[in-house]
Amino acid sequence: MRISRLALGAWLMAGAALAQTMPAVAQTGPAAAQTAPAAAPVRYIQAGAVLAEPGRVTRGPTTIIVRGGTIAELRDGFVTPEPGAELIDLRTRHVLPGLIDMHVHFYSTGEPLRARLDFAIKDDEDGFVDALVAARKTLAAGFTTVRDLGGQPRGIRALRDAIARGDVEGPTIVNAGEMISVTAGHGDANGLKAEFAEAERHGSTALCNGADDCRRATRDQIFQGAEVIKFAASGGVGSNIAGGLGKQMTDEEMKAIIDTAHAFGRKATAHAHGKEGIDAALRAGVDSIEHGSFIDDETIALFRKTGAYLVPTMLAFESVLRQGRAGERPAASVAKAEEVAKVVKQSHARAARGGVRIAFGTDSGVGVHGINGEEFALMTAVGITPVDAIRAATVEAATLLGRADRIGSIAPGKDADLIAVEGNPIDDVRRLEKVEFVMRRGVVHKLGGARQTFPAR
Ligand SMILES: [Zn+2]
Repeated sequence: MRISRLALGAWLMAGAALAQTMPAVAQTGPAAAQTAPAAAPVRYIQAGAVLAEPGRVTRGPTTIIVRGGTIAELRDGFVTPEPGAELIDLRTRHVLPGLIDMHVHFYSTGEPLRARLDFAIKDDEDGFVDALVAARKTLAAGFTTVRDLGGQPRGIRALRDAIARGDVEGPTIVNAGEMISVTAGHGDANGLKAEFAEAERHGSTALCNGADDCRRATRDQIFQGAEVIKFAASGGVGSNIAGGLGKQMTDEEMKAIIDTAHAFGRKATAHAHGKEGIDAALRAGVDSIEHGSFIDDETIALFRKTGAYLVPTMLAFESVLRQGRAGERPAASVAKAEEVAKVVKQSHARAARGGVRIAFGTDSGVGVHGINGEEFALMTAVGITPVDAIRAATVEAATLLGRADRIGSIAPGKDADLIAVEGNPIDDVRRLEKVEFVMRRGVVHKLGGARQTFPAR
């Protein structure tokens, strides 16, 4: 049966409206949610300390009152729950806003050797299951929101929507669909034998050459559900081509992509390593730069002039070097990783000193998922202060997403995305590698050592 496009559109819109009004699904699962439209659960979280807005607002003993998926109130001290409310005891813990990772790939397992074997075995459906597992691991690590910057576009959209409905566990996803790239560029199916390359390219709409074609590619990503546009301005470490890390797109191609994204209300982010690629993307009006390996004073001035963010992703380089030493990466990738390793730390230190706005990102999927918190120590190692590193994963990332009104800080009216750790992470950022408690939109996903007391019925 053919459903008319009009009828389908109306049905989709009804579904979207329903998803927005649906309360967070209780821990008892979707089945319970279907039986009775119970009142939104109320949870009293007694917290030892709260980094409500990291670096700006810190509170001592506090009770955070969560109604449904929203933070309703913050009260001083440990307040006894109202009748019918749950109590979550985090009196010995530091509570922070849920962390945000601006650069992950749920469709990549971060195990390159296994991926090469999987290529001949796995269908798209298997890839979806891998993405689901990666999403769960990421949420358990304390990341309640991510940007997925490239994967199977329809699969990642389905996962995004399933998580938003509360049907499956995972962080809120802001998805890029596929990364837009020029032919033979970082996003092409480089280094594969003909049949595999053809299979990889089949159905892809993300390769483009020339400004008009790049407008088409951007619109194709939006058509497939992209909420943010990602393009490869320069060569990349992970692609199996000895094409260097220089600028790969023309100024006209970049401008066409960014202007088209903006026209559709989407932000645009550029994968860029080499200085020329970074500078050209900044001049073309990009909203953020991923990786940013070669940054000098001129580049810093451009960042400051445009207000664009840098998303450093140092964990990715560490992962590629580690995999290279284990013989898991092709020679072309290892050579580029080594080239980056020589300069990247100085570049990021220079950017931080120069006042470039920084948002947290790991490029998880290059390495394995669920160790996102290791990026914090890599950031502080180049001179970013612990509090700035935490702000990069909360307030700053939320601002870059355009969602600072909902996430990134703990305040009445915002989404109840909360995590807890033992001890103050400003004294030791590695505490964020061991997130104990995770709540997303009012639903507890990880309790750690916390005690949860349910109301008597
Ligand atoms: Zn990436």
